Amino acid sequence: MSASSPKIEKFDALVIGGGAAGLYTALCLQQEYAHNPNYRIGLVTKDELQISATDWAQGGIAAVVDPSDRPEFHAEDTLKAGNGLCEPAAVEVLVNSAKRQIEQLVALGVDFDRDGTTLALTLEAAHSRRRVLHAADTTGRALVHTLAAQVLAQPQIQVLNQTLVLDLCLVAGICGGVYALNSHQEIIYLLAPVVVLATGGGAQVFAQNTNPPSSTGDGVAIAWRAGALVRDLEFVQFHPTALAIPGAPRFLISEAVRGEGAYLIDRSGDRFTFAYDPRGELAPRDIVSRAVFSHLQQTGEPTMFLDLQAIAPEKIAHRFPNIIKICQQWQVDIFAQPIPVTPAAHYCMGGITTDTMGATSIPGLYAVGECASTGVHGANRLASNSLLECFVFGERLAMAVRSQNLDPSSTKLPEFLPLAWKSACKQDPIQISEADNNTAKIKSQLQELVWKTAGIVRDREGLELGLSQIETWQIELIKLCSNSRIWIETRNLTDYAYLLIRSAIFRTESRGAHFRQDFPKTEISWQVHTVIQAEKIYAQLLDQA
Ligand SMILES: Cc1cc2nc3c(=O)[nH]c(=O)nc-3n(C[C@H](O)[C@H](O)[C@H](O)COP(=O)(O)OP(=O)(O)OC[C@H]3O[C@@H](n4cnc5c(N)ncnc54)[C@H](O)[C@@H]3O)c2cc1C
Repeated sequence: MSASSPKIEKFDALVIGGGAAGLYTALCLQQEYAHNPNYRIGLVTKDELQISATDWAQGGIAAVVDPSDRPEFHAEDTLKAGNGLCEPAAVEVLVNSAKRQIEQLVALGVDFDRDGTTLALTLEAAHSRRRVLHAADTTGRALVHTLAAQVLAQPQIQVLNQTLVLDLCLVAGICGGVYALNSHQEIIYLLAPVVVLATGGGAQVFAQNTNPPSSTGDGVAIAWRAGALVRDLEFVQFHPTALAIPGAPRFLISEAVRGEGAYLIDRSGDRFTFAYDPRGELAPRDIVSRAVFSHLQQTGEPTMFLDLQAIAPEKIAHRFPNIIKICQQWQVDIFAQPIPVTPAAHYCMGGITTDTMGATSIPGLYAVGECASTGVHGANRLASNSLLECFVFGERLAMAVRSQNLDPSSTKLPEFLPLAWKSACKQDPIQISEADNNTAKIKSQLQELVWKTAGIVRDREGLELGLSQIETWQIELIKLCSNSRIWIETRNLTDYAYLLIRSAIFRTESRGAHFRQDFPKTEISWQVHTVIQAEKIYAQLLDQA
């Protein structure tokens, strides 16, 4: 098929992403339109439904279900972790809707762990109460399994696997669909008056990260290229305890392990985190990550260690079967020896700016899940609030869509494919393979550069060095253009890195997960969001500031 005559498919709503946010939003849209069997929802994923960051989530979902706990306590913890940058209205929505979402998930068939008949709850860092629900240490897998089965059972939802969304179709500033590359390497148009980006985070932009390979920041890059507002991208949460074994991926050792009583120690056995914060291992993640980072630098050691000796072996076996299995694969017996750990990029707090109903600054375009910035996380996410956010805001988004009652026949086809796809892409297979090899090299250099210059500790000199190299790669990539996944994802990662580093240079203070050693203090004057639209960057007051 030639680039000028792409295949066209029309839907009433398109959801891009098959993680918690995408699956749940598609189901909620289906429920909103259950009365209309002709209402068609397209659910697009670039892999299969089982592959997402959600599938990798371990610890659980935060929700007030215990009678001694209260939504106000949950809100207080969330606001405290967010360090002055949470939108209070969004936090209120989050904590007050949590219990309802858990009830709905249980009704859909999610099998959370129980103590007898009541839902079992664990403690995670910076939560003042035990309020994290879990399904052993594979909570995300339990969610994806159940939600995907529900999605596949709905005739109103059509799943398009192996379909990589490239960019948005805009006509007169209104979003009416997407361009995508299907599994036959053809460019297709998917049109709908409602487009929901649920594409997850972008932590793959760092060489050291806990995310699946698919977390390449596609949604943020796509929305930004289309002119949407994106917000607070400098705030990336670094997890203090990723498995640190040469050759092993940075597998996450869940915070729940510390919540259940594990200690962070150095080679000499010292619980060093107390020297950095009186809350020790259970201080917020940015503090623990910086403590580990600083202690690694001070001691010159390659790793710190997580010691599980204080947890009863039966509890370890019951709560962390997957961690036991993965560590065993790397010859670490967690019952007998401490786990070598190091910090790694884990979660992106910033994203596409949305209101509390999921609407972005572009009419017709919505965002939900990790790619969105609803305002609930502020400068640092409270552990286990992110899965909850997918459900709470996915449901609200579906309600907002229903209330608008848009007509798919009104969707207009854009007149042109973006230049990059129409003419610049390589056609010859030999040229494509050479271009893709060069693109792969840029990708790994980019990941190393971002880790070095925009990692746990940042300063102007490093960030500016990083930015100028990234701008060079952005131009080089245009020349290497090909319709291949490596090119498309590297382009998105490069745009994501550009936005992240520009935001990190802009914010001349330290707050939450953003630490500038040249501006180590938190400044009241910086209690504002960092917003980027096209090339413009500016500070924006909080809604209720
Ligand atoms: C190891 C790990 C452990 C975690 N543990 C927890 C936890 O215990 N509790 C918690 O609350 N949070 C946890 N998180 C964070 C949480 O898992 C994520 O924030 C959440 O799952 C994000 O869901 P999502 O649906 O927004 O994105 P994802 O689950 O990442 O799904 C993104 C989807 O978008 C698709 N996609 C992306 N780009 C495109 C494109 N261009 N075209 C088509 N499809 C595309 C992908 O294929 C995928 O289906 C963890 C994260 C990791 C990595």
